[in-house]
Amino acid sequence: MRKIVLATGNVGKLREFRATLAGLDLEIAPQSEWHVPEAEETGLTFVENALIKARNAADHIGLPALADDSGLVVDALGGAPGVHSARYAGLNASDQANLDRLLAELSETPAEQRGAHFQCVLALVRHAADPTPLICQARWDGFITFEPHGTCGFGYDPIFLVPSEGQSAAELDPAVKNRLSHRGQALAQLVEALQRQPEFWAH
Ligand code: IMP
Repeated sequence: MRKIVLATGNVGKLREFRATLAGLDLEIAPQSEWHVPEAEETGLTFVENALIKARNAADHIGLPALADDSGLVVDALGGAPGVHSARYAGLNASDQANLDRLLAELSETPAEQRGAHFQCVLALVRHAADPTPLICQARWDGFITFEPHGTCGFGYDPIFLVPSEGQSAAELDPAVKNRLSHRGQALAQLVEALQRQPEFWAH
């Protein structure tokens, strides 16, 4: 079984990765097992930041690494918080503080203008200098609610309305969220790509 490192310290993401990748012949270890220093997310794009995180983990640990960079893109805010989603209310801000700031920014925005989507980019590198990483990305469209609903999930889930379900992402059964979400869809692409090209690992 091949061992790869998951370059995230976010326990919500870790739960979703483990559930979705359970069927693969991969042993997935969180980078926290090695006390890897956090990479500085200096990229302007989700792709750049996912690569920065994957390389950082591969460099420190010497194993293949998978990273996710994700965030919430809100139409009425010109795409904010975007790549700054984790630090919207300041460095090391809590999920609650970020969500409160977003609701405050949208307090005057009517329902029909509250469109938003989650974006997820996954980057898998075989080693820190990998010139051909595997990149997968997906988005999940919805609306920002006026108040939080539900207690599952993490981050902005309580204020993200999933139109097909008529519920917030934090009200969904975790298995349903993993099937529909930006991360679930990007992970499905990753699984499919690895199954289609087993030679990816041959390098
Ligand atoms: P990252 O860890 O730098 O990729 O930051 C991602 C941030 O986007 C998280 O801290 C959350 O605030 C938000 N985010 C990403 N994916 C989700 C999700 O599935 N649900 C809710 N919030 C999310």
